[in-house]
Amino acid sequence: MYEGAVQDLIDELGRLPGVGPKSAQRIAFHILDSDPADVQRLATALTEAKARVRFCEVCGNVAQSEKCQICVDPRRIDSVICVVEESKDVVAVERTREFRGRYHVLGGVINPIDGIGPNELRIRELMTRLQDDTVKEVILAMDPNVEGEATAAYLARLLGSMEIRVTRLASGLPVGGDLEFADEVTLGRAFEGRTLVGS
Ligand SMILES: [Zn+2]
Repeated sequence: MYEGAVQDLIDELGRLPGVGPKSAQRIAFHILDSDPADVQRLATALTEAKARVRFCEVCGNVAQSEKCQICVDPRRIDSVICVVEESKDVVAVERTREFRGRYHVLGGVINPIDGIGPNELRIRELMTRLQDDTVKEVILAMDPNVEGEATAAYLARLLGSMEIRVTRLASGLPVGGDLEFADEVTLGRAFEGRTLVGS
């Protein structure tokens, strides 16, 4: 449709999640209209983020070094782990200020259609963290949708045989929604009213 570099830019932008062809075109022309210095800043932010951001070796959250800021924080409680799907969910839970424990980021949810099974998620790493009896409660904070529920049910079964309290966020979260979009009050209440899973 367009010549060379313009079309390449539109194609690359169009591969981003949530960016359709029309948005890709609009962003591309916005970039072409921008100051070279602004475009350079964007390009630097992209390459720097990719080069410098890594994933915490303990919890899987985004980090600037081997461990993330939450894992190295001595004020956090070691006996509770909140299991979430993605790093953005850590941010959502932190915003509520209801939770002072540690996190575990799965890196997604079980989704057979996309070929994602338990082995593609950081479940083995979670089980390793639970070996030494430090953790007394695991809070399953998956999104309240089909894949989130299936993943929580899988983990609840897996953890059922261990001497650990397994809880699930209380209802009140919009069904079919995304944790990240729940407002702080609703998510905070869901935390307070979390319920025990299984027996
Ligand atoms: Zn961490």
